[in-house]
Amino acid sequence: MSNKVLVLAESREGALRNVSFEAIAAGKKIAGGGEVTAVLLGDSVQGLPTELGAYGADRVITVEHPHLKQYTSDGYGQALLAVIEQESPNAIVFGHTALGKDLSPKIAAKLQVGLVSDVTDIKGEGEDAVFVRPIYSGKAFEKVKIKDELKFVTIRPNNIAPLAREEGKSADVSSLSIDITNLRTIIKEVVRKSTDGVDLSEAKVVVAGGRGVKSADGFGPLKELADLLGGAVGASRGACDADYVDYSLQIGQTGKVVTPDLYIAAGISGAIQHLAGMSNSKVIVAINKDPEANIFKVADYGIVGDLFEVIPMLTEEFKAV
Ligand code: FAD
Repeated sequence: MSNKVLVLAESREGALRNVSFEAIAAGKKIAGGGEVTAVLLGDSVQGLPTELGAYGADRVITVEHPHLKQYTSDGYGQALLAVIEQESPNAIVFGHTALGKDLSPKIAAKLQVGLVSDVTDIKGEGEDAVFVRPIYSGKAFEKVKIKDELKFVTIRPNNIAPLAREEGKSADVSSLSIDITNLRTIIKEVVRKSTDGVDLSEAKVVVAGGRGVKSADGFGPLKELADLLGGAVGASRGACDADYVDYSLQIGQTGKVVTPDLYIAAGISGAIQHLAGMSNSKVIVAINKDPEANIFKVADYGIVGDLFEVIPMLTEEFKAV
């Protein structure tokens, strides 16, 4: 039996986040031949529905309101509940992002339905869909099936590939107007700590530094390599605690979880709490002076050496390609 699936599309500064396209692909599997509708919330979302159609959304529902300019669980919650009421879907897919992690459990709890979070793969389709998610800090994977009529799912960025973009393929776009009332939070201003460069949680390449980088300036060569590869800089908590970089770059159990195609770990020992945030990366390259460092246990390629020699060498080699 086919399902009717909603996908919450996320945008930032007028551009759709890649996880929205991955969520459409996940939605297609859950729909099992049924309809996938992307939901776009914001104060002005013009131009974005076209792209969602090109990535496979059958329909797009937009909800525009001044109170949806910035995310609040109150405002987005009210808008999403209105869409759910109108559409009566069988499943809703979110990115396992700051927004998805905050909003999905609140609405699922309100509606008293099941939620499976941080999904990295979906086996089967439609009613037979089984969700795969890492547990015990990535040491094992569990397979989950939800029997509820309505299921909530969050997908980990960079794991479920988006469908191929089809130029000219468009979705049926409609809008829903709602009244947003009794907001408990109004966002006056957003101050971003890292405004430049690629979004760490969606980056295809991450160059991460640890306490071995020794200073804030020491991160310069890592940034240069990350920029060259179109990637983002990340860090261990050791480096954040030492004030070399901001905590927004922390990767691990209490930081961000990343699954890039390439993760370069420089001067990071490989504590279990760090591995929890990066061990599912597709290719891991570790650079460490200590041949016994734990990071080498999860690395595909290990370089025993001084990162201040190895990183510039890598940069030169990549420049030459
Ligand atoms: P160190 O362990 O000090 O390692 C530095 C490494 O650099 C060493 O292996 C050394 O050989 C190498 N090195 C030094 N100089 C060079 C050089 N010139 N060239 C090459 N290599 C060099 N940590 C996280 O990262 N993320 C988390 O989310 C996180 N959450 C935590 C939650 C809890 C509850 C707890 C208790 C801890 C958490 N930690 C987390 C901390 C974690 O346990 C480690 O302390 C931390 O990851 C260590 O950071 P590090 O590898 O940068 O530093």
